Amino acid sequence: MPQFLAEPIARLIDEFGKLPGIGPKTAQRLTFFLLRQPAGEALALADAIAEVKEKIIFCGRCFNLSATDPCHICASESRDRTRLCVVEEPLDILVLEKTGIYKGLYHVLHGSFSPMEGILEDDLKIAELVERVKQGGVDEVIVATNATVEGEATANLVRVRLRPFGIRITRLAQGLPIGSDLEYADDYTLSRALEGRREY
Ligand SMILES: [Zn+2]
Repeated sequence: MPQFLAEPIARLIDEFGKLPGIGPKTAQRLTFFLLRQPAGEALALADAIAEVKEKIIFCGRCFNLSATDPCHICASESRDRTRLCVVEEPLDILVLEKTGIYKGLYHVLHGSFSPMEGILEDDLKIAELVERVKQGGVDEVIVATNATVEGEATANLVRVRLRPFGIRITRLAQGLPIGSDLEYADDYTLSRALEGRREY
């Protein structure tokens, strides 16, 4: 960072620059935007960051990010408990919930199987998924991992691990562009992919 910048400013630019999708120019723009804001508004951002880090935990059942354990989905009486939808990231739940057509429960793996990048089975919540299925009551697991190489490898691993339980395993794929992340799919495509899920 250039030396003519006051250290606190350089520090904030540096912090913004660590965020995904934020290049050096955007980091500078965001910093100078905040410097122009009234202190209260700028601090509201700092406060919101502090609050999520303080209050957000993992749901002990589905591993979604939540302020409560169990999360509001796991705790809901109106959800179909015979279905589990397996996703890579908590953000995927948000995307699927927006379609409004899925009424079952979820299970977040927190990543995808990618030995090349050092992400192995034990790094994912697969054993926890197997445990949930083992406890009974689940008739169908919908594997909604991304339509990427890693997402496919993850789906395959989940299938192999769940096969001994003789439940229905389906894969959400139809209509999703190959190589794409779930979070970029529009509601219509995702709804069709859910309805058209196939035996896996
Ligand atoms: Zn939950």
